[in-house]
Amino acid sequence: MKLLENKVAIVTGGSRGIGEAIVRKFAANGAVVVFTYHSSSDRANAIVEELTADGSQVLALQSDAASFTAAEELIKEVVGKFGKVDVLVNNAGITRDNLLLRMSEQQWDEVMSANLKSVFNLTKQVVRPMMKNRGGSIINISSVVGVFGNAGQANYSASKAGIIGFSKSVAKELGSRNVRCNALAPGFVGTDMTDALDDKTKEGFISAIPLRRLAESEEIANACLFLGSDLSSYITGQVLSVCGGMNT
Ligand code: NAP
Repeated sequence: MKLLENKVAIVTGGSRGIGEAIVRKFAANGAVVVFTYHSSSDRANAIVEELTADGSQVLALQSDAASFTAAEELIKEVVGKFGKVDVLVNNAGITRDNLLLRMSEQQWDEVMSANLKSVFNLTKQVVRPMMKNRGGSIINISSVVGVFGNAGQANYSASKAGIIGFSKSVAKELGSRNVRCNALAPGFVGTDMTDALDDKTKEGFISAIPLRRLAESEEIANACLFLGSDLSSYITGQVLSVCGGMNT
């Protein structure tokens, strides 16, 4: 039996990077996967086509995670189609890096909306269906910089630290209903997001990582599979660092 057989999973921001790896990993492990994207429709459709041809049940929907009403409509559609939600991965996220001295209100607000409000939006909508279904696993993608901060990322670090406080609170509220909620804190992962960093910054980060390399997206997806499956049935309210030892 596959680890996510008979489970319905939603992954936000599944068209690229870590989210795409999670979609692939969940589909390979038997889940029905619905993933969202913001604007990469061609890429999202190509992923659906490929995974469907392999026999998986995968659906992509354009949905802005920062929008409360879009989240409401998304969950309604998924529950209407598949009857339940077992796993929610709040993965969608952006960066708008700048030193605080130069950071605009817009850069602050965009990051807070896409990274933190999105987690509230989606989580709020799955609470009822998960309670009705007598269980569920919510995985919120934070970051090591949400734990120890990073110069030039006050907005991003604050959003990722907020996710940790949110996840622990939700775990305490919903534990008695068998709904688990954990945060996953990746270190630096090789995706479009980190490709934007210059080589000198990247080298600096890598030298501070005990495993001396960036993570592959699949390594983050493996931890998500663990948190989304019943293998982690007694784990809630935790922050799982997948950071090559950076946060040690
Ligand atoms: P990425 O390659 O830039 O991909 C971001 C994904 O999020 C894309 O699928 C994008 O959709 C989607 N997205 C962005 N804003 C959205 C919105 N408002 N609504 C719906 N979807 C939205 O990023 P990544 O590196 O894979 O990062 C994924 C998550 O891991 C983020 O939360 C990030 O903060 C976190 N993280 C990343 C790293 C790292 O080193 N890469 C480290 C720690 C944590 P489109 O393709 O349509 O734009």
